[in-house]
Amino acid sequence: MARYTGAVCRLCRRDGTKLFLKGAKCFTEKCPIEKRNFPPGQHGQSRKVKKVVGYGLQLREKQKAKRIYFTLETQFRAYYQKASNKTGVTGELLLQQLETRLDNVVYRLGFAMSRRQARQVVRHGHIQVNGRKVNIPSFQCKVGDEIAIREGSKALAILEESKNFASGQSSVPWLDINREGLSGKVVALPARADIQLPVNEQLIVELYSK
Ligand code: SF4
Repeated sequence: MARYTGAVCRLCRRDGTKLFLKGAKCFTEKCPIEKRNFPPGQHGQSRKVKKVVGYGLQLREKQKAKRIYFTLETQFRAYYQKASNKTGVTGELLLQQLETRLDNVVYRLGFAMSRRQARQVVRHGHIQVNGRKVNIPSFQCKVGDEIAIREGSKALAILEESKNFASGQSSVPWLDINREGLSGKVVALPARADIQLPVNEQLIVELYSK
């Protein structure tokens, strides 16, 4: 399956909830969910809203999580497999892996205004982990890892914009953030309470464990 490159706001409208895929716009009244909270497409508004239950609901939750973190099915399933092989609550371990992806950490550190933009910042080689360049968005960060913007990339215009945006966001307890120095450190693994996202991970576990 190819990566989705269409209009991301359609994804939120399809799920009927904000998935925060567009950065600053998600927090303004320009957000299409505020104005047109019905499914996209010609007949979106007139279609009767059916109550989603059972398998449909589980599928929706999985799609939401995949869309929020921009992962593909194969990769997402691999995260689930890894989580289910570990000791602990599978749903929480699944979210923990998604949260500690390098692109998400870059977003949480405030180096980008959305996960999609963070992915691009990583892919373009602007990030270093423990002093070494890493350009793999799915790179898994561990406790103790130091993530920073590379010296030659510190003048990027989007960093200033992102810094202003991030200063208005809630704090991230599992990261030690140095906004001025454009760096940060993973000081703990994220707990479920630290991941404020509209996803019911238990339904995803139920879907995959069938
Ligand atoms: Fe678009 Fe963000 Fe609103 Fe979703 S939350 S519809 S991505 S502006």
